[in-house]
Amino acid sequence: MSIEISEAHIIAEQMTTALLDKKVKSVALYDYEKLQKVGFINKKIKDFDNLIGCKIKSIDHRGNVIRVHFNKKMNLVLCGDYGAKYRFFSSDEDLPKKIHFKMGFTDGSFLTIRQIGMGSINAAEDSQVPSLYVIKRDFSDTPSPIGDHDFTSERFSELLVGKKQNIKAALVGKTAVVVGLSNSAFQEIIYKAGIHPKRNTGTLTETERNSLYDALKQILNERICAGGKNQFEDLYGKPGRHVPVMGPNMKDQSCPQCGAAIEKIAHGGGQVYFCPHCQR
Ligand SMILES: [Zn+2]
Repeated sequence: MSIEISEAHIIAEQMTTALLDKKVKSVALYDYEKLQKVGFINKKIKDFDNLIGCKIKSIDHRGNVIRVHFNKKMNLVLCGDYGAKYRFFSSDEDLPKKIHFKMGFTDGSFLTIRQIGMGSINAAEDSQVPSLYVIKRDFSDTPSPIGDHDFTSERFSELLVGKKQNIKAALVGKTAVVVGLSNSAFQEIIYKAGIHPKRNTGTLTETERNSLYDALKQILNERICAGGKNQFEDLYGKPGRHVPVMGPNMKDQSCPQCGAAIEKIAHGGGQVYFCPHCQR
């Protein structure tokens, strides 16, 4: 299950509780060649040895990226937006076999990572962190809908008006006015706001822009409070409880608000489900 902004937030908070001040005893990588080939894992696997003996000082996230900061100027930068399982184990008893990364701590506990799709696991010194692709992408000047206190409805509205582009391009990916939203969150947000997926942001009324902001905040908050989207598993393997209000799970269903048949279109490099009656 993909790690999007709300799930990255949950994992980063759980990591902070579980891992802070732990000292690294061992690091091992498995079955990593494919990920390494496309640049998602350090070219030199030996870079990971630099983490041994380091202590975890803080864990931050922005967008879908998690940065684990160690002393001795070391970092572990993680991104799982195509799918990843981050797990913590207090001993080696139940360690999963199919993993890409395993970090052992001096108290006998472990952090394991399994990438399901593409995604990055990078060991980096402080000076190298700013040049990592996922850091440039998500630890950027683009506002984050979680954690940025100046991300207000006014600011969001201003950015949307300035864009004059399709609503999906304005919310998801490289041209988005916010970091961390995926096609999955997009479908839920525009359904909740009553906006058609093909709308141009230049045509949105002030009321519609405010509805989008409220829907965005609400969906992300709901996902965090529910322990993540269903299919997501947290640091302890506990599944999330958030069932999307719109998305592939609504295939062949009728709209819970109006009863119209849910439609699907290929749009902006993915399938978008929507209600042709409620979303205008
Ligand atoms: Zn409807």
